[in-house]
This record gives sequence, structure tokens and C-alpha cells, in this order.
Amino acid sequence: MLRDMIANFALLTAFFFLFNHLFRRYLMEDHRTLRFKLLIGITHGCCALLLLLFSYQINETSFIDFRHIVVISSAYFGGLTASLVTALFFVLGRITLVGTFTSSPASMTPLLSITLAAIGSGIIMQVVKCYRHRWLLSVLLSMTIITILSLTRGIKKDTFSYLALVGLGGLFAASLIAFFSTTNQLTKQLEYSERKYRSLHALQEAIFESAVGTAIIAIGWEGQLTHANKGTEKMLGYRADELVGKESPLIFLDPNEVEVYGKELSQKTGKTIQGLDVFFYGAAEHVSEGREWSCIRKDGARITVLLTLSPLLLDGKTVGVIGIATDISERKKMEEQLKQLSLLDGLTKIANRRFFDEMLKQEWKKAAQNKKELSLIFFDIDHFKAYNDLYGHQAGDDCLRKVTAIAKKTINHTSATIARYGGEEFTIILPDTNAKRAAQLAENLRSAIENTAIFHNGTRMKSVVTVSIGVATCYPDGNNVPEELITKADEALYYAKGHGRNRMINYKELPKMAGILRHDRYS
Ligand code: GH3
Ligand code: MG
Ligand code: MG
Repeated sequence: MLRDMIANFALLTAFFFLFNHLFRRYLMEDHRTLRFKLLIGITHGCCALLLLLFSYQINETSFIDFRHIVVISSAYFGGLTASLVTALFFVLGRITLVGTFTSSPASMTPLLSITLAAIGSGIIMQVVKCYRHRWLLSVLLSMTIITILSLTRGIKKDTFSYLALVGLGGLFAASLIAFFSTTNQLTKQLEYSERKYRSLHALQEAIFESAVGTAIIAIGWEGQLTHANKGTEKMLGYRADELVGKESPLIFLDPNEVEVYGKELSQKTGKTIQGLDVFFYGAAEHVSEGREWSCIRKDGARITVLLTLSPLLLDGKTVGVIGIATDISERKKMEEQLKQLSLLDGLTKIANRRFFDEMLKQEWKKAAQNKKELSLIFFDIDHFKAYNDLYGHQAGDDCLRKVTAIAKKTINHTSATIARYGGEEFTIILPDTNAKRAAQLAENLRSAIENTAIFHNGTRMKSVVTVSIGVATCYPDGNNVPEELITKADEALYYAKGHGRNRMINYKELPKMAGILRHDRYS
């Protein structure tokens, strides 16, 4: 008996393994089709028959094997339909193999037993929800059926062993199937995660490569570039394979800017940050709006990019940096042009009043720092209203342009700023220029304009365009402000206007001259 039961048990175990292996994919699905239920019934039926061939024979018509467990398993996987098919398959097979039940009424018992077990466990599996209860009830039912039928037929021999086999086999099958179902579930979850990971990876690759207008780079912990997309190739002119694994971002970034950013970060963090560390600390700063960088393309051209750095995290640890850059060179150029346009005078194309104010502030600061003198010239065309009235506004405009050209040509000073202060009034900032030199330059300008001899018949004194000039000089420091210099130059100009025009007055000379020119009339 033991040998037969071991063979039976081995067959049962092998069947469970094989069944799980062959149908794992279908078993993992919640819904069972009728076709699959039939398949479950038939495969289990085949197994039951195979067990019969290796069973222990009690008498002519009675055999002990694990067929009841197979029926319960069939009911578990495929419900009542599958368990009935298994029972039917077994009944037909047994009749074929062992002989018809008509030969002896006792041969009816096993067929009745398996059919009742199939119906009972089929119903239990459908009604009861708890896995353990399902199996326990089904096994108890089979044991009850076996007991009743054995007692009815008066078979006492080996009934207890049979019951024990069904009980233990049931427990074993329940544990094995639970184990399979857990591993199947885990496999399913793993497959799902893998699919999800792959789709995310595909999505990331698609985004990475399709962003042709944006350069996306990844920097590894060592500082080398680990990824560079097509946008990077387009923006920087390098092929990805020239950069990835070989170069660091320092190959295309301006070293001076890296140094400046390093100093900035060092100040913020109190640590010494330089070179490649700039990217890691920069990313940790989480500057989501990005920072402007100058990049040097492979062909040497400079471009301006807006680069956003973010840390690349893996399991909460920073393993690198992701950089996303957009080329803003065109925008920068436009901004620069607009800025220049807004600072230039439309008619004369020299600095306008706004530019003058800004420049004076800057030069004032510089002169104060370097303890240098700063001079300012103010000049105004004499009787310009009359010029306009006589020759028309267009001719007036031409005259303004001519005067500008003379001023540009005459003021031979590398850092001078000539600006149109307003109307026919001009100003010249002369950094690092003393009063004497400024007066000299101003006098040169006055005589150059007079000598150009732009015909002007409305000046009363001369029949050419002339200018009156005021000059002022000072040492900028904490005690004075730029406006004072403007006022002084303007006062000197006012004085020149009031005392004959076509003349240059140095503010420094004003008190002296006031005495001499006291009686002159401003007309
Ligand atoms: P003064 O010698 O005292 O400076 O007399 P002026 O006539 O030059 O001075 P006033 O301030 O009376 O007149 C300035 C004139 O400059 C008036 C205005 O029509 C003219 N003007 C100002 N801006 C422009 C310009 O852009 N184009 C032209 N054509 N004329 C201008
Ligand atoms: Mg004037
Ligand atoms: Mg004027």
C-alpha cells in the first residue's frame, strides 16, 4: 500500500506543478472562460484516471487513491462545471479501464462517491469565500462521503487509512496551491512593475530624444556627462558620443562664469566650491528658474543658454545632476538691441538723456573710487528757434545731426560720452579730465562748429551756426552728487548765453568773469 500511495502522491504533486506551469497565465486572470473551465475539468480528469492506474486495490471493485483531492482542486480552479467534467471523465475512464458497474452493484459506489464529491466541492467553492474554509469543507465532505459509502457497503478494512490519506492530501494540496497562487501573484506584480518601468523608460526616452529644441544632459557623480540628447548635439555642435562618458560640462561652459558661480556658492555655503562641484551644489540649490550661462559651441561660437540644474536622485541619494538648457541667444540679442534702442537718440543716434543719466552715475562712482576728476560739458545751439523758423524743421534736424558729427569728431577722448540732453542741447561726460583740459576740448568744439560755417542768417552777430558752452569739473566723493555737476555746467552755459553766446564758460572762472561781463546783456 505504501508504495502505491507514494507513487500516487508523487503523481499528484507532479500534476499540480505541471498544471500550474502550463496554465499560470490563465490562472492569474480573475475571469475563467467556459473553455478554460472545461480544460481544467479534463486535465484534472486525466490526472484522476492516472492516479487510478497507480492506486492501491482493496478488493475487486475498490481502489484507494487521491482522486478526491483532484476533484476538489478542479472545483477550486474551475467551479462546479470543472469538477463535474472531472468526475464525468473519471467515471467514463474507470468504466473503460476497470469494467462496467453492472457487473456488480458495489462498483457503483466509487462512481457515486466521486460524483457527489464533485457536486459538493463545486458548490462549496462557489459559495464559500475563505480559501481555508473552502478546502476544509470540501475535504470534510469527501471524507464524509467515503465514510458513509464504505459503511453502507460494509467495507471497514483500510477505510481509516483512506480517510487519513484524503485528509492529509487535502491539506497538502491546499498548501501547495496557496503557495503557487502567492508566487503567481508575485510574478504578476513583478511583470506589472516591469511593464510599468519599461513604459516609463520608453516615455522618458521619447521625451529625452524628442526635445530637439532643448538640451538635456545628465552628469554623473564623477562629473562626466552620462547622457546628452539630440537637442544637446544641435545646440552645442558636438555629437553625443563625443561627450558621453568622455567629457564634463566644463568643455562647453565659460570657465570664468564657472569660477564666478563657484565664488557665489562658496559665499552662500561657507565652503570652497569650484570646478565641477559648482554643478552639484548648484543643483542642490534647487534654482528652478535656471541661470544664464555662456556656452562655447564646438565651432567656437558663443551662445547664451538658460540652464536649470536638478539633482538626480536614486533611492533618496544624489547620484548625479540633470541639466536642461534652452538657447536664449536670440532673445538676448533682441534684448540688447532693444536696450540700445531705448538708450539711443533716434535723430542723432548718440546717447539719449536716459543713457546720459545712467552713464553719469557710473562715471561718478568710478571717479569717486579712483579719486579722479570728472568734467561735464553742456552746449546749446544759439538761436536755433530762428534757424528752424528760417529754414524749416527738416533743415533744423540736419543741423542737429551736423553739430553731433562735429562734436563726435572734435572730442578726441576715448571714454567721453556725448549725449543729446534734449532739444538742441547736448552734453559730454569727460572722465578723468581736469578743468583745463575740459575747457580746452570745449573751446575746440565751439570753434569747430563756428568754423564749419553752417549758414544761419538769424543770429544777429554771425551768419553761421554757433554754440554756447558751459563746463564744470569736480572730484566726486561722498560730499557731492552728480546733479551738482549738472547744475554747475548748466549755470556756466546760462552765463555764456547771457554774455554774448558763441562762447565757452568754465564754471571755475565764473566769479572772475562775473565782474568783467557784468554789464553784458542776455539777449
Ligand atoms: P538760445 O540761443 O537762447 O538757445 O535760443 P534758441 O532759439 O536756440 O532756444 P529756444 O529754447 O528758444 O529754442 C529751441 C528750439 O529748438 C525750439 C525747437 O523748435 C527747436 N528744436 C528742439 N528740438 C528739435 C528737433 O528735434 N528738431 C528741430 N528741427 N528743432 C528742434
Ligand atoms: Mg538754443
Ligand atoms: Mg535750448
